[in-house]
Amino acid sequence: MSGNEAEPRMFTNRFADAVGPSGRAPDRDRCRCTDPSVKTRPARVAFHAERQDTARDGWRHLLTLIEEAAADGRTVFKPFVELSAEERRQIVTLPPTIATLTKVRHLVLYGTNLVRIPPEIGAMASLEVFEPYTSHRLHWYPYELTRCTRLRDSTVSTRVLYTSFNNRPPFPSLRPVTTATEADFTRLDPGVWGADRVDACSVCAEPVDHELHQAWISLRVATDVLPLLVNACSAACLAAVPRGPSGHVRTPHHGGPDLAQPPVRGA
Ligand SMILES: [Zn+2]
Ligand SMILES: [Zn+2]
Repeated sequence: MSGNEAEPRMFTNRFADAVGPSGRAPDRDRCRCTDPSVKTRPARVAFHAERQDTARDGWRHLLTLIEEAAADGRTVFKPFVELSAEERRQIVTLPPTIATLTKVRHLVLYGTNLVRIPPEIGAMASLEVFEPYTSHRLHWYPYELTRCTRLRDSTVSTRVLYTSFNNRPPFPSLRPVTTATEADFTRLDPGVWGADRVDACSVCAEPVDHELHQAWISLRVATDVLPLLVNACSAACLAAVPRGPSGHVRTPHHGGPDLAQPPVRGA
């Protein structure tokens, strides 16, 4: 089932217990990156630049919840229902320790303040149902999500994706090739690279230590076509990325405002 928010009632009951307690403070921030109107969205969209503040209570609480879930081997994981509104707002990414959640089949990330998901999600080998629904700042996903080969059902707010049929927003522009002398891959600006570090190739999983080849590819993952960020170690690995479905840019590309995309559906 696709998360088209023109039909919110379908989800009212399904997600009634998916969000944690509300508080006086807002539990998330807003952005206009994928607004339908070119008048209100930024002309040159960039990655959200926030870095995770790992000293915050919300982050530490999340680390503990992941440790507990990994230890008890639970199959459904809904960490954000355990967090206060203030704590939820503090969390802009997930920790690499999600790689330990190898028994989790159903991951609920409803209504979060996340701006990115780390590549370690690809190690969640049992994942079947993925629900980042109404996480409105999640405009893209890591290519490593395609390693979750059991994934069969997703509920994503497709309206806020870079691949949105209705909006055709621009993708952030990527630098095609960067050498290790030009950037330290262990200390990157997430506003430029979409991550604060790149360790391993999204395609072959070998270390990225000489060159970084970044590209976007739009692929069907479970229910939805998602914009996926590829961090490849070589041109050969990038060439191994499969072609995407029709209606989208079908080959790896570098985004930016001049990218020619298929027209808005119905226009
Ligand atoms: Zn945004
Ligand atoms: Zn590679």
